[in-house]
Amino acid sequence: MSYKPTFSEVESVLYADIRLTKGSAPKFYLGGKEIDIWSEEFLAYHSKSTTDYVRERILQAERTGEDVFPDIVGKKREKELVKNALFSGSPILFRGDRGFGKTTFSKAIAKLLPSKLLAIKDCRIHDDPTRPVCFSCKWRVTHEERVELEWVPRIWVRIPGDPMLTTRQLIGGISIQKLREGYELDHPEVFIPGRALKANRGVGYFDELGAIPSSMQTMLHELLEEKQITTSEGDIIPMKIDAIEIASTNPSNYRGTSVIKEPLLDRMEVIEIGPPESVEEEIEIALRNMYYTKRFGQRPPIPEWHARIMAQIVRFGRNAQKGRAQLSAALSCRATIKLFDHVYSRVERRGGRVPMFKDYGENYEMVKLALGGRIELEYGSRMNKDDFISALVAEALKAECKRIYEDYLPREQFETFLKELYALGEKVDGGSLIRVEKDIIPSLRRTKTVSALLTRMKAQDDETTLSAIEVVLNSLSHCSDFVSKFDHGYLIKEVRDFAKTSL
Ligand SMILES: [Zn+2]
Repeated sequence: MSYKPTFSEVESVLYADIRLTKGSAPKFYLGGKEIDIWSEEFLAYHSKSTTDYVRERILQAERTGEDVFPDIVGKKREKELVKNALFSGSPILFRGDRGFGKTTFSKAIAKLLPSKLLAIKDCRIHDDPTRPVCFSCKWRVTHEERVELEWVPRIWVRIPGDPMLTTRQLIGGISIQKLREGYELDHPEVFIPGRALKANRGVGYFDELGAIPSSMQTMLHELLEEKQITTSEGDIIPMKIDAIEIASTNPSNYRGTSVIKEPLLDRMEVIEIGPPESVEEEIEIALRNMYYTKRFGQRPPIPEWHARIMAQIVRFGRNAQKGRAQLSAALSCRATIKLFDHVYSRVERRGGRVPMFKDYGENYEMVKLALGGRIELEYGSRMNKDDFISALVAEALKAECKRIYEDYLPREQFETFLKELYALGEKVDGGSLIRVEKDIIPSLRRTKTVSALLTRMKAQDDETTLSAIEVVLNSLSHCSDFVSKFDHGYLIKEVRDFAKTSL
């Protein structure tokens, strides 16, 4: 700032609500070049509120039936509620246990805004050139001939609900007193924005709103609702921050945290965010978020049956909590993602591509690694954690084997099918022993009914074929008397008197 204004000059803009038009605006520069911000090229990136942008985007998607939240798996009902609340500029409070996508949802909401915005250069709250909020920008657009602009990327600010949060961190340092004492407009002691102000023109995500100290919730309410701030010297100054307010709260976390104050709660729409509704959604979330997928930009070749077993382990764990109140914290989607990660790491470490049962660990160590730290059995529970996890694995295995048995195994040619399996193995006492190893693949491919089954299971390459035959044998051992697990393999009984045996 070349000219140093006096305080009375500054005061004239401090309380002003500035709205510039083409006629009243200074010359704007971008990258050193003068631009016409009202031209087609720039018009979409200023002078609009966050709600304007959100409404435009939602209406545009309504016409084509497009999902505006493609990053969120499932949650159709919740998506509708969110769109409706945002459409009228209503703040949203997501209520739900940790790890069910509240943060992801808030980020997906930010994507309704343009990917970049035109802002006054170096403004700490990326002020809109035509309607600035901070003192320094208000002065610049009303008193300077040329104002530099810059592009800022889409804004999403997380404001963690921390009981130790200070006013400076949340709201920032704002002092009229310092201006009176002659400090310059952009001096840090006059104005340093806290996180809530930095969300200007974007999304402010108040993560665990209830954990924000209650005195600060009052200040927050003043800022968000009244669009003004009372400074520490008692001056009430307008701060017309425009942000989409999204907050979260974790119901099982109420102990030890302060609650959300009534006035703040009263201005938000509460939307419950629960666990994925179906096993398919659970799998989709895991596959999207696995380390492997993020690292290599493609999904690992995990066959349907293993994906379902892993997802069900977590889902059964979650239900166990509901039914028997044995767990003190809900198993989040992070547990599912980690289980997929750990099992798949084992696959990669042994040089493979497709999971086998051994990749869960001899005693399901990989499952215990993923779930152990996330499960807390209630005090007095008779089961220990290891047994509890093993029981979940057994339950998930059984459910999936039953599905394979019912959906895939040939009813019509069951006898031929068993005879083909029998012929694959090595003759031992009491039947034929199949070891699920690579050398059985050529003979597997020569079978009729078994290879037809493998085709139905979409097992084409060698590794998927082995994984498929393993789960088929496992299903037979669970659901029939013809096959039993035996010494690192599967024992097929001779089926001489098949006709007498019922299925
Ligand atoms: Zn500014």
